[in-house]
Amino acid sequence: MKAYIGDSPWTDASGMRTAECRPSTVYIPEPTRRTMKSTIVLLGPPGSGKGTQGEKLCSEFGYVKLSTGDMLREAVKNQTELGKKAKTYMDAGALVPNDLIIGLMKEKMAAANGKVILDGFPRTLEQADALGEQMDVDIALNLDVADEELIKRITMRRSCPSCNAVYHLVHNPPKKDGICDKCGSELYQRDDDTEATVLNRLRTYREKTMPLVGYYYAKKKLVTIDGVGSIDEIYEKVKKAIQ
Ligand code: AMP
Repeated sequence: MKAYIGDSPWTDASGMRTAECRPSTVYIPEPTRRTMKSTIVLLGPPGSGKGTQGEKLCSEFGYVKLSTGDMLREAVKNQTELGKKAKTYMDAGALVPNDLIIGLMKEKMAAANGKVILDGFPRTLEQADALGEQMDVDIALNLDVADEELIKRITMRRSCPSCNAVYHLVHNPPKKDGICDKCGSELYQRDDDTEATVLNRLRTYREKTMPLVGYYYAKKKLVTIDGVGSIDEIYEKVKKAIQ
């Protein structure tokens, strides 16, 4: 079977059919021809929706999401050496040292061959350089949300310890109180999702991670998206940006 990509030989400029369309020939319309970005960095402060938007891209387009936060929480839960070292930093709303994170991600990045979403990595310039040595970043999506909104979102957030799904008590509540819609596990509030820790996390973001906005802008990879609105509205903007 023959496939034509782009302009159909059987339509004129207005899209009207000008000749008989042979049934053995498939016409692939323009939008599917665009290449989707394959390595996506999700930038943006804690609570800006990186995890939620990343999940939606994974379900619709088959990306693999690598979330350093999820990996670290798993390590803490399993009390691994990494988990024991990371916990104090995480509980304080500080960043886990670069060498630990880069060590953790090197292996994952090497194994990733396909469409990858990086959620929460890189968070420092040193991590961004380490990433650049391993793979080309196609786009850095920066979700922009004001601090007051972030604080409200984070303190109202409930997470699933098994499948890492996230909920908001008011805007995106689970169907059954306290229970994950996706896997039925009991939801919990992360230790670092309390008001006291959130302020530290926002300070850390501003100091250590915000310079990455300029870093990816200089590389012409940055797209900033207004991260306020419904999950679906934001997702539409995210999808446009990656196509
Ligand atoms: P997150 O779930 O992305 O909000 O991450 C939770 C916590 O894990 C952060 O507040 C940090 O303490 C730690 N963490 C996650 N990713 C990184 C990273 N790339 N570099 C350093 N620390 C990180």
